[in-house]
This record gives sequence, C-alpha cells and structure tokens, in this order.
Amino acid sequence: MNRKDSIIKLNKVLQWDVVIIGGGASGLGIALDASKRGYKTLLLEKYDFAKGTSSRSTKLIHGGVRYLQNGDITLVIESLKERGILKRNAPHLVQDLSFVIPTYDWWASPFYGIGMKIYDMMAGKLGLGKSEIISKEETEKLIPNISKKGLRGGVIYHDGQFDDSRMAITLALSADSKKTTLLNYCNVEGLIKKDGEIMGLNFTDLINSKKYQIKSKVVINATGVFAEEIIRMDQPKIEKMIQPSQGVHIVLERRFLKSKHAILIPQTSDGRVLFAVPWKNYVVVGTTDTHVKKASEEPKALNEEIDFILKNAAKYMSVKPKRDDIKSVFAGLRPLAATSNKQSTKEVSRSHKIDISPSGLISVLGGKWTTYRKIAEDALNTAISINKLKKKKCKTERTKLFGFKRNVSWSDPMHVYGSMKKKVESLGGVNDNKSLSKKFYISNNIIEWSIIHEMALTVEDILARRTRCVFLDSKESKRIAPVVAQKMADVLGEDDKWIDAELKKFNKLIKNYIV
Ligand SMILES: Cc1cc2nc3c(=O)[nH]c(=O)nc-3n(C[C@H](O)[C@H](O)[C@H](O)COP(=O)(O)OP(=O)(O)OC[C@H]3O[C@@H](n4cnc5c(N)ncnc54)[C@H](O)[C@@H]3O)c2cc1C
Repeated sequence: MNRKDSIIKLNKVLQWDVVIIGGGASGLGIALDASKRGYKTLLLEKYDFAKGTSSRSTKLIHGGVRYLQNGDITLVIESLKERGILKRNAPHLVQDLSFVIPTYDWWASPFYGIGMKIYDMMAGKLGLGKSEIISKEETEKLIPNISKKGLRGGVIYHDGQFDDSRMAITLALSADSKKTTLLNYCNVEGLIKKDGEIMGLNFTDLINSKKYQIKSKVVINATGVFAEEIIRMDQPKIEKMIQPSQGVHIVLERRFLKSKHAILIPQTSDGRVLFAVPWKNYVVVGTTDTHVKKASEEPKALNEEIDFILKNAAKYMSVKPKRDDIKSVFAGLRPLAATSNKQSTKEVSRSHKIDISPSGLISVLGGKWTTYRKIAEDALNTAISINKLKKKKCKTERTKLFGFKRNVSWSDPMHVYGSMKKKVESLGGVNDNKSLSKKFYISNNIIEWSIIHEMALTVEDILARRTRCVFLDSKESKRIAPVVAQKMADVLGEDDKWIDAELKKFNKLIKNYIV
C-alpha cells in the first residue's frame, strides 16, 4: 500500500465499478470482496484506516453470548460461522481464547452451562473448543485473582480474540492491488447524480487539499456511525436512521488478572455483560452502552462510564483497580439502527442491514467486526441485484488473508505480521528491532514498514493503529512520541517543523486516552 501509487492509479481510471466510502471493518471487507470478484474498486477513508469504531472494539471475534440471552439466534449462528471462517483464513490474527464465567448463585452454573452447550452446538464444525461447568477450586485455579467471597464455581467456554486495527490493515493489504485503490485522508463531500441516479462523488484529498470528481457504477456507504450523513447527501429529508451508542474500555496491567483466561461477568448493575480480557500483556475491561446525541471521530469516555467499569470489575477482582491504575481508556461508537420505541440501546440488535436508496446509494447499517465478511458479501450482492454490477460470485469464504501463517507464537508481538515477520525485521537489510519502550513492543523497523507498506502518515497512525501503544499505555505512548516522530521524519524526509506540528497534534489527542 503506497499512497503515491494510489494517486497515480486514481488519475488513470475514468470510471470505477465500485467506490466505497469509509475504511473501517465494513468498507475494507467490501474492498477485499470486490477486488476478489474482479471489480475495479476505490476506497476512500476520511482519516486513517480503522480510525473509527473498528480500532475501538473489545477485540473479540465472537458469536456473542449476550445475543443468545436476547434471543437473537440468527445473529449468533451467523457470527459463529464467520468466527470459524476468519480463524481459518487469518490464523496469525485470530486466536482461541477461553473465557471463565464465575458463578455466585446455586442456579448460575447449570444455567450458563446449558447456554454455553447450545452455543457450542450452534458453532457446529467451526467450533473452537467445548464448554464445561467447573468447580469452585478449578475456577480459583484458572483465575487466581477472582473474588472468592460467595464463589460457587464457574463455566468455561471458547471464543476468538484479535487485534482489530491490525486486522483492518491486513484486509487492506489482502485486496488485489491490480484491482483496488485505497486512500486514507480523503473526505467524501458530495454525491454526483444524473437523472436521479448516483453516478459518482466528490472528495478532497486532505493531505494536499486537492479536490476530485470521480465516476462509479456503484457507490457504497460504509461510514459506520456517520452513514446517515452520507445518506443525507442523497436524501436530505430522511428520518433519523442511526442511534450512536458509546462503549468504553479501560486497560489495566496484567497483575489485575493473573491468568491467560478472560472473565465474562454475565450481569452488571445495568444488566449488561462485562469482559476482562488479557490482551498483549495488559487487560482490557469493558464495556458500557451510553446513548450519545452526536457522533464524533474521537469520542471521549465519560467519568461515570469509567467509574461504572471500575465498580463492576472490583466486584469480581480480588485486587481492586482504581482510577490511578488505568493505563489507557478508549471509547467507540456503535452504529445502532435507530428505533422509534423506547427500547434501550443494549437491546437493539447488532445484526447489519443493507439499505438501498431510490437513487441507488447502497449503505451498510450496523453490524459487528466478526461479521465484516458477510456484510461485504451482502453489500455487493445487493449492488448486483439492482443491476449496478455484473454478476460475479463472492470468493472470500476461502480467501487467505495477507501474511497467512499457522501456528504463530501469541507471546511474540510480531505475530500480527504472520509470514511477513522476517521481512519487517530485516527491512532494508537493517536489523533495527530493539523496542523503543519497555512497556510494549515498537521498533524502528516497524515504524519504517508502517510508512512504506501500510500507508501510515502521522504519529497517531503509528502509535494507535499500526501498533497499539496508545490503546495499551497512553502515558508511555506520550513519552516515546518524540522518538517516533523523529524516526518518521527521517523516513519521510520531513523537517523539524513537521515534527513539532505532529507532536502538537498527538499530545492533544492522547489526552482522550489518559485518565
Ligand atoms: C465498544 C465497542 C466494542 C465492540 N466490540 C466488538 C467485538 O469485540 N467484536 C465484534 O465483532 N464487534 C465489536 N464491535 C462492533 C464493531 O467494532 C463495529 O461493528 C465495526 O467496527 C464497525 O465498522 P464500520 O466499518 O462499519 O465502521 P467504522 O469502523 O466506524 O468505519 C467507518 C469509517 O468511515 C469513515 N468516514 C466517515 N465519514 C466519511 C467521509 N465523509 N468520507 C470518507 N470516510 C468517512 C470514518 O472515518 C471511519 O473510519 C464493538 C463496537 C463497539 C462500539
């Protein structure tokens, strides 16, 4: 992925088959699917790939135990199937993780035990491992830090875990480079119509403020929580379609969960589930479900959301986390379908919908990271069904993702590069792989690779999405940002003025992740 090459390709194409707005899970999934079907495809992302919700998830590739509780059986079956497909196609990015549900009531172990057996059955051949009811002693052995007061036992089950923004970059890299052009920092500002039909769009390259008008057979709106803004460019008078719901996670040191297993707390004080998940030497704890009025590209965690997570986690952790223990906090927005009744956001289905406007704009509404492949398949099949594209079959069920490698070591931070690991480590014949931090792994070779091959343009791109430093330890990320900026300037040929401007932007952003 190289931005200069993408601009050259952009200027050569007179009409695209597919133009996608938005470079999150849905948009990148559609780009991959479209390229494999052989459509000439362009994807435009306003900020960086996965800047939106797709870098702010709980990092689970899961069927969704909670949706089972809500009776959303179709979504669970679909998600479990996609979980299996994704693990098969990207074994270097999706790992099997076992979850323990601690139980404190007499009825809880048999209740959740039966539920998890149904979950196993629904996964069928693509199941990851069998669930089991476990004793109090086993629960304590598996999660030594579990609160022991009143503990009766537990249930263990399996789901998938991944690195969301690394998966997004992997999807971008997996798209056929001859067929696909991807551009970050390009803002779509308007749709072009002829005789009531959408024919293309206008966008601005935010790097040099250059404006473009492009033609396409079909335009797909995959802008997540911003989908309604794009639909309004087509139909200014539509009713509210999307209800943003904020989910916050806090990140703690591993000493709060001295275990390789995750915890699922099935019932928080507001009736939600709460996860404490080991992730890259840290623990991610969340999430919340807070109604927000307006979507923002950089949502901020509310104090009451942080307190809610700390309070509920403390009930189950024998070492109680406090605000000072939080290494990072991040917020993401769920693009839930708006409902007219008084349903609470946690009850709104997480299944996706594909909307077709009278002028032929196709919009993805809602969805999950886990089901990105199915969302993409459905969006392109919809375009075919309205005669916008020539009929071609979806191939992604068996498409191995970039860097495909089996049996990677999950304790090696370089596993996210799969089969490309050695290439990153020996980039340009230089072995500059010493970590710039003792808290997490980031090297000069990773910075250079991210710029040359993964279209990283800013300090934030490197520290938040090509690596996950911002999400793991925000203060440490702030500390090493000047070193990262200097290395970036060396690779990009930028001067001290560029470094100062980058650090100013980054230091403003990082405040949102520091508690
Ligand atoms: C707290 C939380 C936890 C979650 N956890 C999980 C989980 O563990 N597992 C799971 O499967 N799912 C999870 N999800 C759901 C999942 O993360 C989302 O469904 C998914 O990331 C949505 O992807 P998207 O591409 O539709 O949207 P986004 O990732 O938001 O992408 C939309 C993109 O469009 C871009 N854009 C907007 N306007 C324009 C424009 N005018 N021009 C160009 N680009 C534009 C934005 O910058 C953005 O990058 C979670 C969601 C939340 C909020």
